[in-house]
Amino acid sequence: MNISAIQKCINPDCGSEFDCGQAMFKCPDCGDLLDILYDWDKTTVPAKMSDFANRWATRNNPLDFSGVWRFRELLNFCEDKHRVTVGEGQTLLQQNDELAAFLGMDKGSLHLEYEGMNPSGSFKDNGMTAAFSHAVMVGAKSCACASTGNTSAAVALYAHACGMKCTVFIGSGRIAFGKLSQAMDYGANTIQIQGDFDDCMKQVQEVCTRLNIYLLNSLNPFRLEGQKTIMYRIIEGLGWEVPDWIIVPGGNLGNSSAFGKAFFELKELGLIDRIPRLAIINAAGADTLSYLVNERGLKWNGGNVNMKEVQALYADFTARHFSPHTIASAIEISRPVNLKKCLRSIDICDGIVRKVTDEQICDAKALVGRYGMGCEPASAATIAGLRDMLADGTIGKSERVACVLTGHLLKDPDKTVSYHKNSEGEFSNPPVESANDIEEIIKHIV
Ligand SMILES: *Cc1c(COP(=O)(O)O)cnc(C)c1O
Ligand SMILES: [Zn+2]
Repeated sequence: MNISAIQKCINPDCGSEFDCGQAMFKCPDCGDLLDILYDWDKTTVPAKMSDFANRWATRNNPLDFSGVWRFRELLNFCEDKHRVTVGEGQTLLQQNDELAAFLGMDKGSLHLEYEGMNPSGSFKDNGMTAAFSHAVMVGAKSCACASTGNTSAAVALYAHACGMKCTVFIGSGRIAFGKLSQAMDYGANTIQIQGDFDDCMKQVQEVCTRLNIYLLNSLNPFRLEGQKTIMYRIIEGLGWEVPDWIIVPGGNLGNSSAFGKAFFELKELGLIDRIPRLAIINAAGADTLSYLVNERGLKWNGGNVNMKEVQALYADFTARHFSPHTIASAIEISRPVNLKKCLRSIDICDGIVRKVTDEQICDAKALVGRYGMGCEPASAATIAGLRDMLADGTIGKSERVACVLTGHLLKDPDKTVSYHKNSEGEFSNPPVESANDIEEIIKHIV
């Protein structure tokens, strides 16, 4: 398989190109984001999406087993010998008719993509398998990331899988315990900074530049290449058909950026004939994207994004010492690094942005638990957003919708327990206290 990828700056006034043997994470000429571009003529891409199904027959090969590398012709930036896998991407697209019925949707309309089934329990593994392959390709010995939790868990897992040293930066007091426990158990050097995610993000970039450490945040364009495969698996789960809507939570906006790129490329290659619409859901306490798009009219505009609007907002955040707050800690981010690429995805997918309150998120999370297999709070923002979009007619009850459930229920059990114990939630299901007495106990059996 010939390699035919380059890194290219997304700024149309710059457009600098670099080969994939370098690790930079930002354009050295103008500081903008980098993209991976392929020369498809030099790669043998299957003639139709369903050809990828042949890989199931050879799944004893770890690269064919991987739900990311199964599609490797579509992220062909390194040779097989560099590809790292721990068996990521064995995820399920569940047609959930019970939840659909509860929400007033038609049978067969609602699909839940359980990315919590990944080895470290979140979608982040899709990106890490790709980024670590690039890290191995460039000979990195040490890596780092800033994290609200799941990135650190995934980085720690992949770092020890390929024998790399790793340091993770987390905001003190902000991380869910399930995630912190993983970073420690997988052997990461864990540094808790007195600050929030945005502070960690700033520091980690400085540390990586100064000490020449490989950076694994979603600034890293190779991570996004791996995350494209979530969309391929949704198409696969629908019998190689494209849904009408993809709904995803928006934090650092890596997923939304990757999804738009995935569909753009599939269309360009003639592997799909239409692109689904994308709905990105912010938490109300961390609603930068929603504010900029819906209230300031910010657009991709062919790559000429009005960054003055963005800088004005960030200057205001700084002046007010604003720190985002939401129960959905995985999307508690106010300066999303992939903002520009996300605007491009909105352009490609005729996308929309919504925001939902913590209360809506908690109720939606309980619904995913009651009718499905559960998820962590950030993931449930998708269902909360869907409820709103059904209510106002943005999404019709017979449209085919796929919600990306980004993380596993057990990542953040504290939030689940406090929701159910505090009986005020729409779907609270508190435990019942009983004396250790058979007659008493029988009274509580319903
Ligand atoms: C990282 C993360 C998000 C945010 O994804 P982005 O790609 O940064 O927008 C959402 N949900 C979970 C569970 C996450 O771990
Ligand atoms: Zn540039």
